Amino acid sequence: PSSHAPSMQATWVDHDRGVTRADFIADWTFTASGPDSRKRHIALVGHDHMKRELADWAVHNRDLLARHHVYATGTTGRILSEQLEMPVHHFLSGPLGGDQQIGAGIAEGTIDALIFVCEPRAPQPHEPDVKALLRIATLWNIPVACNRTTADMIVTSPLFTGAYRPGAPAFLRPAETSARPVT
Ligand code: PGA
Repeated sequence: PSSHAPSMQATWVDHDRGVTRADFIADWTFTASGPDSRKRHIALVGHDHMKRELADWAVHNRDLLARHHVYATGTTGRILSEQLEMPVHHFLSGPLGGDQQIGAGIAEGTIDALIFVCEPRAPQPHEPDVKALLRIATLWNIPVACNRTTADMIVTSPLFTGAYRPGAPAFLRPAETSARPVT
């Protein structure tokens, strides 16, 4: 079994930094059929020239997405809720703070996957926010896709719907800092 199997997971807290992350994932919904009913909290963001690409991907994966909680930055969210005809939680538009709201959700453990279809040909006016979002997703060790192929591979992975939880980042593991498991 993976070292990230749920039974191996401790709830952890970094006492020095005052960081608590009560449980990495907010919503575990098991049924008698097993852990496959797990709902992920997925944030979708598409830069302007990539919104069509993201919307096509989302429509193609609509039934799968409908089994989870979907979040998006403002404009992306409006497009997705129209095209998918399903609830999509909208944050602010990315350049107005939406990327940072998603980053905050990742840090707090309320968002556990990020599909961020970035514009690879031109810098964005809110480049610092883009960088910050990718940094925080990396830091908290959540799955991140920046293109459609990676997004396909993430959402079709058995780990995505199975009982897999990301491990705590190395810098928060008890042996390396004062962080210790909460019993
Ligand atoms: P938007 O934001 O969905 O509001 O356009 C995306 C982004 O971060 O550029």
